[in-house]
Amino acid sequence: MNVHDSEKMSGILKAEGYAEAANTEDADLIIFNTCSIRQKAEQKFRSELGRIKLLKSKNPLLKIAVAGCIAQQRGRDILKRNPHVDYVFGPQNIHKLSAMLTTNAMVCIEDNPEIQHTDLPAERKENLKAWISIMYGCNNFCSYCIVPYTRGRERSRPSQNIYEEIHELADKGFKEVTLLGQNVNSYNSDTNFPGLLRKIEAIKGVERIRFVTSHPRDLSDELISCIKELPKICEHIHLPLQSGSGRILKLMNRGYTYEDYIEKVRKLKESIPSIAITTDIITGFPSETDNDHSITIKALRSIEFDGIFAFKFSSRQGTKAAEMDGEGGRMAEKITSQRLSEILGLQDDITLRKNEALKGTLQEVLVEGASKTDKGKITGRTRTNKIVNFEGNESVIGRLVNVEIRMAMRHSLEGRLTSQSQ
Ligand code: SAH
Ligand code: SF4
Repeated sequence: MNVHDSEKMSGILKAEGYAEAANTEDADLIIFNTCSIRQKAEQKFRSELGRIKLLKSKNPLLKIAVAGCIAQQRGRDILKRNPHVDYVFGPQNIHKLSAMLTTNAMVCIEDNPEIQHTDLPAERKENLKAWISIMYGCNNFCSYCIVPYTRGRERSRPSQNIYEEIHELADKGFKEVTLLGQNVNSYNSDTNFPGLLRKIEAIKGVERIRFVTSHPRDLSDELISCIKELPKICEHIHLPLQSGSGRILKLMNRGYTYEDYIEKVRKLKESIPSIAITTDIITGFPSETDNDHSITIKALRSIEFDGIFAFKFSSRQGTKAAEMDGEGGRMAEKITSQRLSEILGLQDDITLRKNEALKGTLQEVLVEGASKTDKGKITGRTRTNKIVNFEGNESVIGRLVNVEIRMAMRHSLEGRLTSQSQ
């Protein structure tokens, strides 16, 4: 979501006549688009902000802006403590960027209840795959999460705006769109999420549709039927579980039990046997016991996700879980680290096993370009979002091709180009 927000900032700046600097030292404007989901991201930002200070003495014209969720939360404080910062604006105020640059200093962190109507011209670096915002904010208030406080209440963008943006992208040759929202399956404007998907399916030129993130509670049978029926929707769903323990899920305020979750997974696998399911796991949530952790391990073994993102719990000031943390629920760092490496080690084996099961199969791949990791090869992704490297010439870049999988690694597959499907 932040990557796409940065594309919107670039779009605004380009329209104002700005061009991207070759490196930080040459820039007259530096924008930090920050993330506050976990402490680590905040720390990175703070050290970068300190480092950049010197540049201001070298270039008196240089303006520095802090954007994103840290700006939203700590805007005034950042400005007060860092005299080298000129502007601060939150994720709901990106549209004010050009007006802001005409001033000497400004803080824009108020809520924007109409954000869904602010169409911003994104400047995309890629020309094949595009992110599209379909909704903003979140109403879920998972107890550990800062997003509802920084991005505000959930608002869905009118479907017509979304179609227009995708039509334009299709005309420019984009082949794949990824619909973005904190909880895409609760999208609700003049239509619901399945309704939106059906209309996007009909847009000529778009070959693949993806979406992130789906909330397990709101994953409806209607959506499962849509994934099954609509040929352009890719067979991949990111469905964050967070924990296998019902007790922890309740403390997290996730709104589903483990049993609810596996029932949805069962339905998904039954309707769409080839579907890849990925997830997010938080370990070391306040008061998480060895037993809670082993239940999560059991869940990972039993569900066999195609991939996971696993994080150590990070206490975010202002959230409910930060209070639980303060009340003595804090887990020792050593235990959290051990749990995280057990989770990651187990998942590595599962991911490899799942990838190996694809050997000998034919996969549709959208060819993206030269492989970064495998010199001389080209690369793309399967419908299930797995990276495939294979030999082929550049004429197939941008096309859908069939690749036979020959080798499986943890993070990628290797294959042989068979025939072009388009
Ligand atoms: N809206 C999406 C996810 C947004 S944040 C959803 O609900 O699935 C992405 C992931 O970051 C979350 O799924 C969660 O696993 C993780 N996360 C969020 N807040 C966190 C925190 N305080 N500590 C550790 N991980 C966190
Ligand atoms: Fe955060 Fe939960 Fe909303 Fe996702 S659904 S953004 S984890 S509050």
